[in-house]
Amino acid sequence: MAEKKVVLVTGGSGLVGNGLKLALARDSTLERDDEKWIFVSSKDADLMDKDATVKLFEKHKPTHVIHLAAMVGGLFRNLKYNLDFLRCNTIINDNVLHTCQEKKVKKVVSCLSTCIFPNKTTYPIDETMVHNGPPHDSNFGYSYAKRMIDVYNRAYKAQYDCNFTAVIPTNVYGPFDNFNLEDGHVLPGLIRKVYYAKKDNTDFTVWGTGSPLRQFIYSVDLGALIIWVLRDYPEVDPIILSVGEEDEISIKDAAEMVVDAMEFKGNVVYDTTKSDGQYKKTASNAKLRKYRPDFQFTPPQQAIKETVKWFEENMKTDTVRL
Ligand code: GDP
Repeated sequence: MAEKKVVLVTGGSGLVGNGLKLALARDSTLERDDEKWIFVSSKDADLMDKDATVKLFEKHKPTHVIHLAAMVGGLFRNLKYNLDFLRCNTIINDNVLHTCQEKKVKKVVSCLSTCIFPNKTTYPIDETMVHNGPPHDSNFGYSYAKRMIDVYNRAYKAQYDCNFTAVIPTNVYGPFDNFNLEDGHVLPGLIRKVYYAKKDNTDFTVWGTGSPLRQFIYSVDLGALIIWVLRDYPEVDPIILSVGEEDEISIKDAAEMVVDAMEFKGNVVYDTTKSDGQYKKTASNAKLRKYRPDFQFTPPQQAIKETVKWFEENMKTDTVRL
């Protein structure tokens, strides 16, 4: 019998790690008898520490790694701690990728983000543009550390013939997200705000004008696609995991979907004193569609409903990150 594959997921307790778990639970055709999945978090090992990283690998003996662990945060945390984002993520990535090489891990998939692309760019953004100019000033520390993963992947290929690659998802949302208003992203923020507007009988306030455009990806769809990347995507070059340009929606559309999903009957107001942020960051999913022309994304109305259901159930047990 073929030897069992051991897939170690770093950052396994976060939004994307849980998306992987939910994808495996949702679709039994994704299950493989010859794979064992291990999800680890910062509680299991401090990946800033090389010895602790090696110990973690010696304990689980992974043959495959999905590397999601990172120091992450919203706009304001990024602005304040650019150096910490740069150092922390660089050290984690160096420790994880080098240990993968030393322990002869067969494949590594790391996770980047569309916010690392050049600030000044043409649209749609594609995978060839990662290094084509400086990132936005607000998160340059995080962005350069993440961009270096792509450089590492190519260097490990060139020097050791390693099979390391990276995925670039657009705006991810789903169960287990961070629903904190200061630090979280827009969809969890909207769900939280509607929840309290209903509870307190107040208006639902959307920040900004509602006109910016985003491509949202449900964490469970992202999980399914990362599993495909791990098993079948053959390139070292990264791949954008996103819905198509035609499925880009406005913040207003997203707010209306949350209102419908939560059956909110009160007033929706737009606080235009708050920043709109980038108007758009449209990414091309042409490469993904070349490999996976038939992949079905969950319609956002349904995915938002599932996320709301998870949020409401977990609010009852105080297990939401708020
Ligand atoms: P981005 O995609 O990196 O810009 O980050 P976000 O996911 O935080 O989306 C920001 C966009 O959503 C901006 O246009 C905000 O003005 C708008 N927005 C509206 N309400 C909220 C909210 O409650 N939280 C957040 N984070 N953004 C909101």
